[in-house]
Amino acid sequence: MGTEKRLDTNVPGDFYVTEACINCDQCRQLAPPIFSEVGDYSAVISQPWREEDRTKAFHALLSCPTGAIGSERKEGLTEAIADFPLLIENNVFYCGFTSRKSYGASSYFIKHPTGNWLVDAPRWAPQLVHKFEQLGGIRYIFLTHQDDVADAEKYAEKFNAERIIHVLEKNSQPGAEHFIQDRTAVDWAPDFRIIPVPGHTKGHMVLLYREKYLFTGDHLAWDRERGQLDANEDFCWYSWKEQGESMERLAKERFEWILPGHGDRVYLEADEMNIAMNQLLSRMK
Ligand code: SF4
Repeated sequence: MGTEKRLDTNVPGDFYVTEACINCDQCRQLAPPIFSEVGDYSAVISQPWREEDRTKAFHALLSCPTGAIGSERKEGLTEAIADFPLLIENNVFYCGFTSRKSYGASSYFIKHPTGNWLVDAPRWAPQLVHKFEQLGGIRYIFLTHQDDVADAEKYAEKFNAERIIHVLEKNSQPGAEHFIQDRTAVDWAPDFRIIPVPGHTKGHMVLLYREKYLFTGDHLAWDRERGQLDANEDFCWYSWKEQGESMERLAKERFEWILPGHGDRVYLEADEMNIAMNQLLSRMK
């Protein structure tokens, strides 16, 4: 927590957001009854009274990339720290502890019998490092694209992990252990398919795990307000045309979860997901 001024838009009470907010949306995803967008920032619109809501507010506080969330009382904070990484389903976790370097992008952890994976990276947080140690360390760090690498290098060094990134994003991780060379999908291991999807950036990639979990970086997310899949032309840094072509190739894959860097996660039955993908393709044309 820094010394920035509390926003006037917060309701009075324990939790608050300060001027350090960069409007990354993490808190609104983690604790939607408590945080909402007011003007250009987030604000506390309802103080948490129930213990479970207080825990969610602490999860948001810990995941905020700029330390913009504060709480006057700290009861429950230690327990909330111990919850990370937060289980999403089966052996897939959300890391929290987002980094300002990646504008608060989400990163994920997969616990796997042949070695654990980190998908994009959180900020360096000793509490999280300790939990990764308890979960068996990290074998691979898959990096979707150059913007969301955060502290990947430090995690790689600590765990002797191998980073995988596309060669066109090499500038962000010149010392990475593996570079994907072209636009051909790579079946890296039985459960893991790496799919290059140029568009948002030139060397953007997604990771498909067990034909169920698709880690999409900034290629694709869920738009909770419209209730539909979303790709954003305003935040397309390389080629919107190529992003559409990549989306078309991706629509041929089977998956049920979308786990993005920025934007909302979503679960849909595979057939429903396929319909949603085709609807998105129509909107992109
Ligand atoms: S997580 Fe922090 S920076 Fe992001 S919207 Fe919430 S208060 Fe703002």
